[in-house]
Amino acid sequence: MTAYHPLTELEAVQIARTLGQFFPEGADLQCREIGDGNLNLVFHIADAASGKSLIMKQALPYAKVVGESWPLTLDRARIESEKLLLEGKLAPGLVPAVYHYDPALALTVMEDLSDHLIMRQGLIAGTRYPKFADDISTFMARTLFFTSDLGMNQQDKKNLVKAFINPELCKITEDLIFDDPYTDSPNNSFAPAIRDAAEALWKDGELHLEVAILREKFLTSAQALLHGDLHTGSVFATPASTKVIDPEFAFYGPIGFDIGAVIANLLLNFAGQEHWSEDAEKRSDFRRYLTDTIRDVWQLFDKKFRALWEESCIDRIASETPAYKEYYMQRLLQDAAGFAGCKIVRRIVGLSHVIDIDRIPDAAAREKAQRLALAIGTALIRGNRRTQSIEEVVDIALSAA
Ligand code: ADP
Ligand code: MG
Ligand code: MG
Ligand code: MG
Repeated sequence: MTAYHPLTELEAVQIARTLGQFFPEGADLQCREIGDGNLNLVFHIADAASGKSLIMKQALPYAKVVGESWPLTLDRARIESEKLLLEGKLAPGLVPAVYHYDPALALTVMEDLSDHLIMRQGLIAGTRYPKFADDISTFMARTLFFTSDLGMNQQDKKNLVKAFINPELCKITEDLIFDDPYTDSPNNSFAPAIRDAAEALWKDGELHLEVAILREKFLTSAQALLHGDLHTGSVFATPASTKVIDPEFAFYGPIGFDIGAVIANLLLNFAGQEHWSEDAEKRSDFRRYLTDTIRDVWQLFDKKFRALWEESCIDRIASETPAYKEYYMQRLLQDAAGFAGCKIVRRIVGLSHVIDIDRIPDAAAREKAQRLALAIGTALIRGNRRTQSIEEVVDIALSAA
């Protein structure tokens, strides 16, 4: 066993050679570090002759975004590999296969998905993903139901809660999503042009109450084992296939947080269409596609989660109390709307942004997209506890545009 240190490309190749029979003996392996995150190294290792390839993801002991001074637990590599394995069982075909996990090196070796594209990039290029709503709703319904008290023995669940205690990564979310954007924090980052909008967030008591309630849920609700970072940069897609990656933020939390992440990132792209669409007609077409997808994601999730409740619920009280199911599903929608709003707002004024907005070259178009995203995000937060249907979420976006 090798002691932990960040690997060089050469060392990654040496490790790849030791992985069972994966590559042919003496293969001419090519390695590139392709990570685009701030927390991890990602090596792509390929053998042109056999056409075989794999990915090695190694956790770094610090967050690159603020230099090497922000230490971050390597345990998240264990969390990521264990969560990927569990997701592979609960939602087969929707995550990369895990070939190997090395705890000392905080290293996960997995299936190479380079024939897919990160969905955020695809949406920016105007690609539509007709399979996405069906796949992501299956992924969420099955991974969330079967790790909740509805689908899993409550004593076994508590052991899983213990295995996925993830305080350091949760703290990133707690600070960057639920705290900084609502105060004049040095972590915030936004264009001077929208300072008025940021300052308005800092003074908005009604908004602060809703965010405090959503934050309390994030801090205290152990509803199901979440992915925890389910944005469109964590989805590899083609029009015919969907694969979810990067579950290092996994922990037991409120189900609406995962659903809200999906909705938020579709809406951030919606706002970015201010620039990415060629003209007004294409813009309204693509925005319609995005809101149709949001509607489909929720409706399919709702249908699949209810079907699992009918067929696979192990809890007597939940099974025999139909009104509880209605209460539960309504609350999931409301939480999803609220968390979606929080996730949109932080991507505009908080530390970490999205390229759907930040890569807009024209300053005026970018500012318009930022203000639109903030209008949608704050409306979702404000109304979250009154949300009755997904149509209201769609209407908020379409009427703000
Ligand atoms: P981080 O946690 O640092 O964000 P990710 O798991 O999201 O790391 O991976 C960062 C990038 O590495 C992805 O955007 C993608 O380009 C590449 N990558 C990660 N996993 C795979 C994979 N299984 N196949 C191909 N490329 C991958
Ligand atoms: Mg790099
Ligand atoms: Mg990550
Ligand atoms: Mg990532």
